[in-house]
Amino acid sequence: MGPPGAGKGTQAKILAEKYNLIHLSTGDMLRNEIQKKTAIGLKAQSYMNGGNLVPDSILLSIMKNTLTSLKDSGTIVDGFPRTIPQAEGLSLIVENLHSKIDYVLNIHVEEKILIQRLIERAQNSGRADDTEEVITKRQKVYAQLTAPLVDFYSNNIIQIDGDGSIEQVTQRILEQIQ
Ligand code: AMP
Repeated sequence: MGPPGAGKGTQAKILAEKYNLIHLSTGDMLRNEIQKKTAIGLKAQSYMNGGNLVPDSILLSIMKNTLTSLKDSGTIVDGFPRTIPQAEGLSLIVENLHSKIDYVLNIHVEEKILIQRLIERAQNSGRADDTEEVITKRQKVYAQLTAPLVDFYSNNIIQIDGDGSIEQVTQRILEQIQ
C-alpha cells in the first residue's frame, strides 16, 4: 500500500523478482482491460481518467477470479485493496482459499514529494491520469478512501519510509521482512 507516487509498483516488481512471486498490479490490470476495450475496461476508463477509484464490485470480482485461478502461487498485490470494503472482501477471498496474507507493507512519502515525483513521471508515462489536476485528485482520494486501511491492518502493517533512492527503499523493506 501507499499513495500514488510512493513507489509501490517499482518495489513490488523488485520483490516479485527476488522472491519469485506473481506481481499483480490492479492499475496495470485495469489499463490492460482499457487497451483491449473490454466491458470492464470501458467501465473503468472514466473513473481512472478522473482520478477516482473504480467501483469496489469490479475490483473484487477481478481479484476473486485472479487469486482463485492462481491458487497457491505466492503473490504480491500492488494497488489493492484501496478501500475498507475491498480489504474486507480480500479477507474473505483469502479465507475461502485457505490462504493467508503474510505482510502488509505501507510505503509512506510526504505529499509534496509525491506530487513532484508524479509530475516528473508524467513527462514519460503517457498515462491519462498523470496530469497535475488528476494527480492532486488522486492524492485526495487516497487520503479519504485508502489511508483508513492503515487502521484496518493496524495489527500487522509494516511502515516503510519511501523517501530515498529505489535501492534504499528496497533495503528498508528487506530489513523488515527477512
Ligand atoms: P495505479 O496504477 O495503482 O496508480 O492505479 C491507477 C488507477 O486505477 C487508480 O487511480 C484507480 O482509478 C484505478 N485502480 C487501481 N487499483 C484500484 C483499486 N484497488 N480500486 C479502485 N480503483 C483502482
